[in-house]
Amino acid sequence: MNLKPKKFSLFSFALLLTLVSLLSCDSQEPMVSDESALKQTDKLQEILDIGFQRSDIQDMGDYYLAEGDIYFSKDDSGESKGVNGRKEQASTNNLVSYQERTNITVKIDGSIPSSGVDDWRNEILQAIDHWNSIADFGINLVYITSGTADITVQSDNGSLPDYVIAAAEFPSGGLAGYRVRINLDFSSNMTVSSGSKVYNMVHEFGHCVGFRHTNWASQGEPSSPYGANQIPGTPASDNSSVMNGGTALNSWAGFSTYDIIGAQNLYPRPRLYIVQGASLYGVNVSNGEWAPIGTSTWANSRVMTNVNGLLYIVQDPGLYRASAKSASWSHVGTADWSGTNIMTNQDGYLYMVQTFGLYRTVPGTGSYARVGTGDWTGSSAMTADNQSLYIVQSYGLYKVNPSTGTWVRLGTADWTGTSLLASMGGYLYAVQGAGLYRIDPNTGSYISLNTSDWTGSNLMSAHDGYLYIVQSPGLYRVNVSNGSYVTLSPSSWAGSTAMTTF
Ligand SMILES: [Zn+2]
Repeated sequence: MNLKPKKFSLFSFALLLTLVSLLSCDSQEPMVSDESALKQTDKLQEILDIGFQRSDIQDMGDYYLAEGDIYFSKDDSGESKGVNGRKEQASTNNLVSYQERTNITVKIDGSIPSSGVDDWRNEILQAIDHWNSIADFGINLVYITSGTADITVQSDNGSLPDYVIAAAEFPSGGLAGYRVRINLDFSSNMTVSSGSKVYNMVHEFGHCVGFRHTNWASQGEPSSPYGANQIPGTPASDNSSVMNGGTALNSWAGFSTYDIIGAQNLYPRPRLYIVQGASLYGVNVSNGEWAPIGTSTWANSRVMTNVNGLLYIVQDPGLYRASAKSASWSHVGTADWSGTNIMTNQDGYLYMVQTFGLYRTVPGTGSYARVGTGDWTGSSAMTADNQSLYIVQSYGLYKVNPSTGTWVRLGTADWTGTSLLASMGGYLYAVQGAGLYRIDPNTGSYISLNTSDWTGSNLMSAHDGYLYIVQSPGLYRVNVSNGSYVTLSPSSWAGSTAMTTF
């Protein structure tokens, strides 16, 4: 029962700073600019060509402000396109790349006061938490207090006009927009409520990851040069969206239903999780893209499963629960699970075989009990399906009652050497030697899915009609309806030790 602390390591992220066009938002009524103050430039002509009126454009020094809400950097070159009438949740053309989105660091610059009415710090942290609280959302914002951040929240230092409360950058080069500026003397230095601060920070972080104003079209904002792409699953208009523009004085009242759907559809979370070496990765099951999740060290993890959206990992000697979004983790109970090589879940419990015993563990507390008195020494694979556990031990495949531990052998086939079992859609799947088999969990009868030579495969997981198999160094997706398979990505998954999917 020795409890050793896990080692932490922090990556330092090289940050590529790219100058991008400014985007602003959240204004009160636009002021009318002094037309005579505008010098004719190519950039100004571009903005005029897009369709803005000269009287609605202000020269702000480094950039132009159009209609009080749209910013055009003077060093940006954009193409003009027409405005259409859509009001859906919308995204820019540039999005945060798959590898970056799981760990977008946020830092608060010293120019934001830590006390008084201009202290936005607590509200900035709340906004980070609000985004991170969206389930099944692939973006994870991480607050840091030192080092270089992907997003720096800072005072505008007078750069924003009085009626703009805050401004953010859109993503560029696969990175989140690098900056959020807050106008600390917004609207003649009015006192901004805490609720408005939270609202605006949630809104600005939304811009940083590529959300445009939901009402961009009705606000008269051109789609060009950033793009304004409808996010699937969102409606024609959404007055409750936190991403509506012209909303500086709104108070935080939560995301709208379609904000959440839009977020989940724009950046779906990974469905496949793999420990390789010291790192936990989230894998895009449609194309094999991968991204590290968190910075904890998972070296030598033996096995991983999931319950209720959380990952459970055995890393000798402990059992750990980890967030699938951030990999923040906690130790589950204090038992020594050293040597546990097979684990599955059923009905909200974890089941694991350690030496001779089969154990049921409560994932919340880690409390555990041995299930029955069977001797499961040498078991090589386990899965669960429809209120039963299935275990291969030596030559036999056994169906085990998860409450009592009583068991029956299924069929008479010799399953010696079966290292991988998974269940899905009322069938079991097994890799034995070169073969991949589909097994009837009631009778033990089986057929071969003669798709490939699966010799040496070391991980398998099932989800949504597909098997995912790591046969070093490749990761393969197998369609169980016809046995066809594809290679997921050119990445090497050599050295992977644990995998789960949900
Ligand atoms: Zn905005």
